Amino acid sequence: MNTIEKFDKHVMHSYGRYPLVMQKGEGQQCTDENGKTYIDFGSGVGVNSLGFCDEKWADAVCEQVRTVQHTSNYYYTAVQAEFAEKLCNISGYDSVFFGNSGAEANECAIKIARKYSFDKYGRNRYNIITLVNSFHGRTIATLSATGQDTFHNYFFPFLEGFVNVTANDIDDLKSKLDDTVCAVMLEYIQGEGGVNALNQDFVNAVFELCAEKDVLVIADEIQTGAGRTGKFLAGEIFGKKADITTMAKGIAGGIPIGACLTTEKCSGVLTAGTHGSTFGGNPIACAGGIAVIDRLESNGFLDSVSEKAEIYRKVLSECSEVVSVSGIGLMIGIELKTKKATDVARKAFDKGLLVLTAKTKIRLLPPLTISKEEIEDGLKILIDILEE
Ligand SMILES: *Cc1c(COP(=O)(O)O)cnc(C)c1O
Repeated sequence: MNTIEKFDKHVMHSYGRYPLVMQKGEGQQCTDENGKTYIDFGSGVGVNSLGFCDEKWADAVCEQVRTVQHTSNYYYTAVQAEFAEKLCNISGYDSVFFGNSGAEANECAIKIARKYSFDKYGRNRYNIITLVNSFHGRTIATLSATGQDTFHNYFFPFLEGFVNVTANDIDDLKSKLDDTVCAVMLEYIQGEGGVNALNQDFVNAVFELCAEKDVLVIADEIQTGAGRTGKFLAGEIFGKKADITTMAKGIAGGIPIGACLTTEKCSGVLTAGTHGSTFGGNPIACAGGIAVIDRLESNGFLDSVSEKAEIYRKVLSECSEVVSVSGIGLMIGIELKTKKATDVARKAFDKGLLVLTAKTKIRLLPPLTISKEEIEDGLKILIDILEE
């Protein structure tokens, strides 16, 4: 049996996959088992922030594998301490809980918000407002939080305690922000929902109204964080710092990790025994995370993300098939005039370019390390398909 046959026989069919068996990646390109190469405009789904197998990152990870690969969270490791310190310093937060994925980071945020409110106000202030068209993960709680009806199927009963508000509708927010609410959870740029950035006015209103009522703001920066927008956090672009920020995807450059960051206000909410994770804060993941932050902090790196984003946006906006280009930085949504995003993605794949889709848009989340030459080569393939 070949690889695809083995998959089909033994791996659950929970994904629609392209017929690509990835054999090796280097930088911003990868090769399949037949030797065909692809330019990567997706980085997994925004995970390989430093591209494939970046040398310094790989050295840091491999060295950690040969030193201590895991210990329970009953003990300390220097590498988790160092990653936590770097992550708090660059993000401006006080403390962090480590899990292994985005959904787990959001589960942690939900638990902190509810316990913060329970400790201060008692039992009946547990609702969390989330936005229509949001995406917060695939566990039962984070699916329940996700504001899209298509996700609320099959797995009944979903969790109660989530109330949806239409994104950018301040009146809707005001009408639902009552005494039962403990938090508002948002993505500054909805990723899976179609690469839609929130309006500054709406974000301002969320923070103002929440501050008045001691309602926490949770920013899900799982897709927008770790340099994707040209800042470490997208919140910096909106001039806001949420009480809780969740991260995952690109933060360790391809090793599974999730982080739930809080300000001082919430850093004492989780006490011994109230939350945990066997793998959370794994030393290998933390070593990868340190390598990512070191790179993001290196001279001019984040500015180069914004410069590359400009190239994408300029070229794409000049294409006759493109209606609009959304998102911020290297989180790019492309609205198409006549073509179907899935068809375009498939044609790009055939021609050696990996792109993503989000709803009816083409979505690009290239490695932050992509070169201007690779951007041009990849865009040439994409534009040719769009203008065909
Ligand atoms: C990907 C994503 C998640 C879920 O992360 P997993 O690691 O797949 O659990 C949650 N929120 C946002 C905004 C995401 O983009």
